[in-house]
Amino acid sequence: AKQSGKNRFHLFDTAHDDAIKVQRESLETIRRALDKGYFVLHYQPKVNMKTGTVIGVEALIRMQHPKRGLLNPIEFLPVIENNPMSIEIGEWVIDTVLTQITQWQQMGLNLQVNTSVNIAAVQLQQPDFAQRLTTLLAAHPGVEPRFLGLEVLETSGLDDVHHVSKIMNACLSLGVEFALDDFGTGYSSLTYLRRLPANLIKIDQSFVRDMLIDNNDLAIVEGVIALAKSFKREVIAEGVESIEHGTALLKLGCNLAQGYGIARPMPASDIPAWINSWQPDARWQI
Ligand code: C2E
Ligand code: MG
Ligand code: MG
Ligand code: MG
Repeated sequence: AKQSGKNRFHLFDTAHDDAIKVQRESLETIRRALDKGYFVLHYQPKVNMKTGTVIGVEALIRMQHPKRGLLNPIEFLPVIENNPMSIEIGEWVIDTVLTQITQWQQMGLNLQVNTSVNIAAVQLQQPDFAQRLTTLLAAHPGVEPRFLGLEVLETSGLDDVHHVSKIMNACLSLGVEFALDDFGTGYSSLTYLRRLPANLIKIDQSFVRDMLIDNNDLAIVEGVIALAKSFKREVIAEGVESIEHGTALLKLGCNLAQGYGIARPMPASDIPAWINSWQPDARWQI
């Protein structure tokens, strides 16, 4: 992933530049974005299709680029994958989410909603991650830790399972939730499931996308749901794009879902109205 980071980076026209210069300019752009406040968070709802309740939202970072408009994380996160700036951005994300939760609470929004943030592996590996999280939570005393969720990609950087599980346990004891994101895409999914104390497993959207047309993907989705059940973890499907996806998942016993078929990520200001007006699709009631 360290190599692909450079290749996947499209912020600049790389045609006439050498890779090192591009990397340096990219880092400068991200530095400037942090200093000038060009980063924003959008939020995507997560629902329980069976009970018809909104269970939470996931914060997803974007960069408001002065010339290029709103950029998705694939355009800038790979550049800083192994840079200390990803820790700085990660703390900005948590702090912003805690501020946002406070604001939503002050507006009287349904308080049962959990807001999750994506955590970079380098961030989670910091020996003092739990202490830093404690400090951030302390700065937002109105927010109960159970309203914050952390999502960690199971694809990279968790190799020292012993170390990571210690940090995760320290966070869990603060009361926050933990999810294994993009579950099933890494080489060590089963080891992580077995050894890491995450409450929630997120079935990767690549399996969900084709589960209705590809029996291998369907088998993986079924398998992950069964595994989650055996390990007494919650399971949520990502990338639920259609009624058919939702119905199939409900039949398989996976009630929690997130995806364009329910809602696209949206600015924070749109969330209260969305939550207040959301109705589960009648066709899900099977
Ligand atoms: P993720 O955490 O797995 O988030 C889901 C991604 O899939 C999001 O893309 C979301 O917009 C997209 N998505 C949601 N529903 C659907 C659907 O039904 N169909 C399809 N095709 N896509 C869907 P996004 O926002 O571009 O984020 C991509 C990845 O970037 C995230 O994947 C996460 O790994 C990372 N990321 C996003 N925000 C942050 C952040 O604040 N910090 C860190 N470290 N990583 C982040
Ligand atoms: Mg995520
Ligand atoms: Mg994911
Ligand atoms: Mg993903």
